[in-house]
Parts: sequence; structure tokens; C-alpha cells
Amino acid sequence: MKIIMLGAPGAGKGTQAKMIANKYGIPHISTGDIFRANIKEGTELGRKAKEYMDQGLLVPDELTVDLVVDRLQKEDCANGFILDGFPRTISQAEALKNANQTLDFAIDVDVPDESIVSRMAGRRACVGCGATYHIKYNAPKTEGVCDVCGKELILRDDDKAETVQKRLKVYHDQTQPLIDYYKEVGILRTVDGTQNMDDVFAAIVTILGA
Ligand code: ADP
Ligand code: ADP
Ligand code: ZN
Repeated sequence: MKIIMLGAPGAGKGTQAKMIANKYGIPHISTGDIFRANIKEGTELGRKAKEYMDQGLLVPDELTVDLVVDRLQKEDCANGFILDGFPRTISQAEALKNANQTLDFAIDVDVPDESIVSRMAGRRACVGCGATYHIKYNAPKTEGVCDVCGKELILRDDDKAETVQKRLKVYHDQTQPLIDYYKEVGILRTVDGTQNMDDVFAAIVTILGA
């Protein structure tokens, strides 16, 4: 089962991708997580990616495409994968196609911009393990502390209000065209992302089957 998640920043792609990965036993591959791990480790890639991420811009394809294509060749992807945050442009979608990755589903988690802003303002990420919470919709057991690893929860730099507006614009300009692209391919499925997390997940499971 080869799946990609589409949707605006903050639509709930990562939340759902983790649940799908658990249920179906396939790896969850998030380009944002990979970049953030590199930033934390202080790698050259992390240093370069951060310049773009902090401005709410996309990291250039030269730094992104090979990273993903190589990752998908690893053995754990043989039975499928769930890609979260890639492709984000038509050229990335073409690169995936040229790498002979035939996708089964492109799931669009549809959330209007008005709801996105409050989702991102309330998002908190763990500095230790990267787990994601929401102060209202998915609160940790103890405020500011990760349930999984006990480390501190922070607001991502790029989730600050100014950067969110920029990221939404980048989404509409560069990523939203993928909805029509995958509609053409015939694998687009849209779910109403304004529902609570469990209902969104149930809708996705119905699409994927079993
Ligand atoms: P969100 O889940 O809120 O949409 P991500 O964690 O997916 O955010 O991405 C954070 C940032 O990482 C993006 O704003 C962008 O700068 C960079 N990024 C992630 N994936 C890609 C990609 N496929 N192409 C270019 N930049 C990317
Ligand atoms: P994305 O990966 O698309 O950027 P996330 O999965 O990180 O989005 O979700 C963004 C924020 O919204 C997080 O704080 C998450 O806990 C919260 N969230 C995710 N899905 C829902 C939902 N269905 N209802 C309310 N809040 C949600
Ligand atoms: Zn943690």
C-alpha cells in the first residue's frame, strides 16, 4: 500500500499518517520530520533546510527529492509506505513517478484556512521525540510535557502566526495544484479534515479498506 497525504500545513496529515502507519504496519515518512531531525543533529542538510523552513518557504528540490527517492528504496518500504509532506510540488510528483513509484492513494485532508490558523497556533511538538500535540484537541497528560518521552513541548518556530500565513500562501500556490494532478491520475480521495481525529481516521480506513 503506497499512500501519499495531501493537505494544507496543519490539516492533520502527520496525525493521520502515524495512525495509518500503525494500523497497516508500513513506515511513515515525513520530510518535515527528516529535516527537523537534521537540524537537531546539526548536519549540513539541516543547516541549509532551516534557512528555508524558518521563512515558511519550501526547501529546494535539490535537497529534497533524492533524499525521499533513496528512502523509498530501503527494504522496509517494500510492502508500502505512507509519505507525509512529499510531494509538495508538481515537479516532486513527477520525480516520484520517474522513480517508478506507483501510488495507490493520494489522500487529501481538506481543512479551510480559517481552521488551519487555530490548529497551528495550538500545535506543540516534543523536542525529544517529535511527537505532536494540540493544546485543546490533543492535549498531553501534563501540560508542556511529552507523554511518550517526558521531554519539553514547544511551539515550532514556523508555527508562529506570521510564518503560518506565508506557508498557507506557499501551499495554495505550489502544493494545491497536486489535487488536480492526482485527480487526473485517478487516485485522489478527499476526506473532511474538520472532523475530530478519530472520525477523520475512520473515513481514511474506509477508503483504504480493511
Ligand atoms: P506541516 O506538517 O505543518 O505541513 P512539515 O513538517 O511537513 O509541515 O514541513 C515543514 C517545512 O519543511 C515546510 O514548511 C518546508 O519548508 C519543509 N518541507 C517539508 N517537506 C518538504 C518538501 N516535500 N519540499 C520542500 N520543502 C519541504
Ligand atoms: P500536518 O502534519 O498536516 O501539518 P498535524 O498532524 O501536525 O498536521 O496537525 C496539526 C495540529 O492540529 C496538531 O496540533 C494536531 O494535534 C492537531 N490536529 C490534527 N488533527 C486534528 C483534528 N482532526 N481535529 C483537531 N485538531 C487536530
Ligand atoms: Zn517526546
